[in-house]
Amino acid sequence: MPFDKFNDECGVFGIYAHPDASAHAALGLHALQHRGQEAAGIVSYDGQRFYVHRGLGHVADNFSNDATIKRLVGNTAIGHVRYATSGDTSLRNVQPIFADLAKGGFALCHNGNLTNAISLRQELVQGGAIFQSTSDTEVIIHLMAAAKKRNPVDDLITALQQVQGAYSLVALARDQLIGVRDPWGVRPLVLGQLDGSPVLASESCALDILGAELVRDVEPGEVVVISQSGVKSLFPFRTVPKRFCIFEYIYFARPDSQMEGTSVYLGRKGIGAELAREHPVEADVVVPVPDSGVASALGYAEAAGLPFEMGIIRNHYIGRTFIEPTAQIRDLGVKLKHNANRGVLAGKRVVLVDDSIVRGTTSTKIVSLVRNAGAREVHFRVASPPIVNSCFYGVDTPDRDKLLAANMDLAEMARYIGADSLAFVSLDGLYRALGEAGGRHPDQPQYCDACLSNDYPIPRTDYDQQYSLPVNSTLF
Ligand code: AMP
Repeated sequence: MPFDKFNDECGVFGIYAHPDASAHAALGLHALQHRGQEAAGIVSYDGQRFYVHRGLGHVADNFSNDATIKRLVGNTAIGHVRYATSGDTSLRNVQPIFADLAKGGFALCHNGNLTNAISLRQELVQGGAIFQSTSDTEVIIHLMAAAKKRNPVDDLITALQQVQGAYSLVALARDQLIGVRDPWGVRPLVLGQLDGSPVLASESCALDILGAELVRDVEPGEVVVISQSGVKSLFPFRTVPKRFCIFEYIYFARPDSQMEGTSVYLGRKGIGAELAREHPVEADVVVPVPDSGVASALGYAEAAGLPFEMGIIRNHYIGRTFIEPTAQIRDLGVKLKHNANRGVLAGKRVVLVDDSIVRGTTSTKIVSLVRNAGAREVHFRVASPPIVNSCFYGVDTPDRDKLLAANMDLAEMARYIGADSLAFVSLDGLYRALGEAGGRHPDQPQYCDACLSNDYPIPRTDYDQQYSLPVNSTLF
């Protein structure tokens, strides 16, 4: 299969003017590990030189060694965790990417997905650019090189004015740490502070691990420039309505993070409560699919007045099921990951709650696990509306033909996963749970929910034109 899609579903981190910059970057990335388990990297700067360490695998695989951290000299550092479930997984795509630009070294980390990167790349290559990776992020570097403005911040802004898509960026340009959120604010980015040193991170849980304080979310369309003269804020882009990714609340973010002023955990509990109101069922016990269904199952149980039990136990020594690249391994992954807790399931009418159904692999396995443990009835409740579209903005949703809800109606899905009943929270219910009392505003939705609604706020240029990188761009 040609490498047809960039897959960037990542975590970014940066810290400025702190004596333990690289050690803190490693800790911050560790807290963001759920956002990307394929590779990790850190670039530091000591006022003269840049230092880099990047590797495939988890943060702990690459950064638990004291000697590695010591080699990352300097009091400013940025880091990245990468999540790519298909396509080119070679070391050359691991971030931060680094370039020696006319104004000096520049390191860049990206969470998100650019939707016109392939067309821009083709133009750049025709103009003589030589790409080192197949990552969409590298397009930004080439556009910066061509911009030739006065300084890296202006070059970066000029480059970003040409790209479409979703991006939260953390960059290091000698004496500046830069954070950027795309004009729609699709992906998250927060600003924090540790002992007076500014910190940037995808999620606030990466601040908590350091004991840093959350200052605020970086605003959509904001460029934060951190230097010796302090934290400066620019808004160089055309203003568009904010469309933060609703899937961050549903699944992607860690429950102990605060996003856009909302606790992810409480948001998920609220979705579960809404689900209980919309789709009640006579049952004895509410059981989450751990870990992603725990908060919404608690919300469901509380609202329904039913007992909550850990009827499925998860083995934590295996990564997220989705990370496994082939269907065969994914199937095996689910078996390795979950076991039924027979004592709380046998003879019971069980409400099973999970955050989402994508391909239907997890739900099918879990329903059969619960039945085999003696449950009398299994009612599956999903704390998101049906996922019916691919994401082009940085969440790795498979193509439509692999999405269960895009290919079956409710009754067919219930039969497929083997449940006695199946129900999803409504789109309005989801919005209500996240604090929008009137539900989803039809003309101006408050979130990006394209995977649920088919309403794509940002042009999908390359995908609509079916542009793809040639197979021979991929280095194996
Ligand atoms: P599936 O087995 O394909 O239906 O996937 C559903 C499970 O994968 C759910 O339990 C979610 O917790 C998890 N999940 C949903 N979306 C994603 C995603 N984009 N990346 C990784 N895992 C996901």
